[in-house]
Amino acid sequence: LSTNNRIEPQKICVCVRKRPLNKQEIIKKEIDVVSVPGKGALLVHEPKQKVDLTKYLENQVFQFDYSFDETTTNDLVYKFTAKPLVQSVFEGGMATCFAYGQTGSGKTHTMGGDFIGKQQNSTKGIYALAAQDVFTYLNHRRYANLELSAYVSFFEIYNGKVYDLLNKKAKLRVLEDDRQQVQVVGLEEVYVSTAEEVIKMIQMGSACRTSGQTSANANSSRSHAILQIVLRRNDRANTLHGKFSLVDLAGNERGTDVSSNDRSTLVETAEINRSLLALKECIRSLGMNSDHIPFRMSTLTKVLRDSFIGEKSRTCMIAMVSPGMASCEYTMNTLRYADRVKEL
Ligand code: ADP
Ligand code: MG
Repeated sequence: LSTNNRIEPQKICVCVRKRPLNKQEIIKKEIDVVSVPGKGALLVHEPKQKVDLTKYLENQVFQFDYSFDETTTNDLVYKFTAKPLVQSVFEGGMATCFAYGQTGSGKTHTMGGDFIGKQQNSTKGIYALAAQDVFTYLNHRRYANLELSAYVSFFEIYNGKVYDLLNKKAKLRVLEDDRQQVQVVGLEEVYVSTAEEVIKMIQMGSACRTSGQTSANANSSRSHAILQIVLRRNDRANTLHGKFSLVDLAGNERGTDVSSNDRSTLVETAEINRSLLALKECIRSLGMNSDHIPFRMSTLTKVLRDSFIGEKSRTCMIAMVSPGMASCEYTMNTLRYADRVKEL
């Protein structure tokens, strides 16, 4: 809580994280086409072909608030992305942190860590690191007079429907009242008093996420998972003080070449594309301080509506990219999307 190495949260922070080549990619002798030279820059060496069929690599340059290379740890990514948002939530803000990218690019590794189901030699993700800080702050004298308590919710959005991961995947309705307040009716909100309790909830909830039948890394790639850490005052009404939503988004790969053309996959893909488009538009309107927030475009943006309005809203997007040449097209899509989120 020392103030000297405190990073002030930006209204919108957009970062990119490159994962290392994995074992299979190394065996296949995949070429690493992504480089991170520093100062937030990221380069993609995109394979191209001249009219005479000679092949060459064309450098595409992108600039983000931070670009993390393959040696960066979850701890460091956390420090520059979500940690400043935890501070803003204690100051009464609504914050969101998104992991965006193609399936297999490292979204769940970044958010959930690799400890889920393994316990030992675990790598903590942003969920656990944020939870730890929440309790450090709760017990700190700076915030003691606020008399706050922490609660968690954990749910997923699959095909536009909300399922409660802390309550046997109960299907929940999303309602909007005449004051545009959005409510997920009946969503479990569990009181928590230690980071370990939060981690337990996450493990429980992650175990029952929706798994799709498509693609190599099938597990849970077709749904958005949303962990919310809610701070409430210890008053009679348990007034909302601040809320942090941490979102492990569905894979952004287009349905075209991912495999099958079966109907349910196409519907899934259309729904995912729609929600990711809506998300981009909502973050952009937050950046422009626009009064018109197109949150009704998707269930994802509806349930996050509160986070796109108000002076105290902060958001961070971490775009994940795979380094291999085979993923180049997806990587370019991801980077273009991330670029657009902040472009005004
Ligand atoms: P996604 O959730 O985007 O589909 P995952 O997080 O499941 O992708 O990552 C796919 C695989 O790559 C996992 O085995 C994960 O442990 C590994 N991985 C991802 N990012 C990293 C990283 N930065 N360092 C080491 N391994 C990683
Ligand atoms: Mg995942």
